[in-house]
Amino acid sequence: MTLPASLKAPGFVLRPYWWDAAEPPQRENTLPARSAVAIVGGGYAGLSAALTLRRLGHEVTVLDAERIGWGASSRNGGAVSGGLKLAKGDLAKRHGEARANAILETAAASFPFIEELISREQIDCDYVRCGRFSPAWTPAHYDGMAARAGRLAELTGHPVHMVPRERQREALGSDHYFGGMIAEGAGSLHPGKYARGLAEAAERAGALLIDGVRVSGIRKQGGGFHLTTSKGEITADAVLVATNGYSRGPNGGSAGGAMPWLAKRLMPIASYIIATEPLPEGMIDRLFPHRRVISDSRRVLNYFRASPDGTRVVWGGRASFRDATAEEAAPALHKTMVAVFPELKDTRITHAWNGNVAFTFDFLPHIGVQDGIHYSAGCQGSGVAMASWMGHNAALKLAGAANKDFALDSLHFPTMPLYDGTPWFLPIVGGWYRFRDRLDRMRA
Ligand SMILES: Cc1cc2nc3c(=O)[nH]c(=O)nc-3n(C[C@H](O)[C@H](O)[C@H](O)COP(=O)(O)OP(=O)(O)OC[C@H]3O[C@@H](n4cnc5c(N)ncnc54)[C@H](O)[C@@H]3O)c2cc1C
Repeated sequence: MTLPASLKAPGFVLRPYWWDAAEPPQRENTLPARSAVAIVGGGYAGLSAALTLRRLGHEVTVLDAERIGWGASSRNGGAVSGGLKLAKGDLAKRHGEARANAILETAAASFPFIEELISREQIDCDYVRCGRFSPAWTPAHYDGMAARAGRLAELTGHPVHMVPRERQREALGSDHYFGGMIAEGAGSLHPGKYARGLAEAAERAGALLIDGVRVSGIRKQGGGFHLTTSKGEITADAVLVATNGYSRGPNGGSAGGAMPWLAKRLMPIASYIIATEPLPEGMIDRLFPHRRVISDSRRVLNYFRASPDGTRVVWGGRASFRDATAEEAAPALHKTMVAVFPELKDTRITHAWNGNVAFTFDFLPHIGVQDGIHYSAGCQGSGVAMASWMGHNAALKLAGAANKDFALDSLHFPTMPLYDGTPWFLPIVGGWYRFRDRLDRMRA
């Protein structure tokens, strides 16, 4: 299905709305023969790592197959929060009570980290600590949130309030949900500007950022590493791979990617977004009182917000589990948006795009070292703060400068027998989740 002409605004484009203000620029730098540290992947994780390594005095080169910031980091929804989607109970069962608490605290620490980073580096990215409203898809979800609210407040150090259904319009201009939860420890930013600003901060600190260099192999050589790339060879004393949802090789499997071992542990999943045309004056304030970021409690979630300039709705979700194009996914996103905001029925779309997030088989992000190669990956679609934080911590580890335990470091990193980086089972699992969402709602 493609978007009907009546829903396409004049000038409709298939590219991120964020790129209108901050398209990842082309850099003219050439590949050096060696670098003390080579970082593969120039998203938030790679760039944050580069910045930290430079601050510690290490020579760093960041290599990206496309442009620096081209991946999920300039395509996402721009909702900023710490925390994991995983329930504490599941974590405790697998890792024990103490490690589970340490993991949750470590994840929550990503939020103050990114706030401090943006402010210290003076990154101009429209950051606002606006809070997040999580509307409940069913009354049971509301009760679950209410039960978790106290722990969330404790972990984040910021207030968390429940908003019952009868007061929902104070938080969201919709009657579609069963109330929800406001977490004040969350914010919003312009993802493209943040990617650009982080890259500029890393460059100012002395990192070399190189575009258009695809790494197709990393092998040990003497005490260091030899990287084969599309633009020739480079040697490095240490390597960090931060390729996340784009870790596969050119033929769709793990072969030919920078680090096949990592690709075999990641499920790249497409997430889709549309941006509407500018709305009539006053409408955004009615739809998004306090301009909070929103992500609902469905298994196949919707996330949405006002654009930073307060003129349009930016609406995202997993509209397809079958590798659909952004244009094919756009009608489903529009339909869900109208179910929540019926007054947007005739509102046209100016931009539609997609990007890859990386899920792991244990639903946890991971940093660690395999065969001497450092990696950072797997933010489960919630990585604006987390990928920045993981990259920083991977850099501290690589430099031997970590002075305390990082709870997501060197955990067992599971894969599945015969899995080669392409989650062929996704349409089945995604379909099942959608069915469960519908069923829960029918019973609500
Ligand atoms: C549509 C969408 C919406 C999202 N919304 C949110 C949100 O609202 N809030 C939130 O917290 N998170 C969100 N996320 C997740 C967040 O954007 C990511 O977790 C984060 O950007 C990951 O950063 P990264 O540096 O790990 O990876 P990326 O930014 O994806 O960077 C990986 C880079 O590696 C490069 N690369 C891959 N292979 C090679 C190779 N062989 N050689 C060289 N370079 C290579 C790629 O070109 C890419 O630029 C969203 C993601 C998407 C896609």
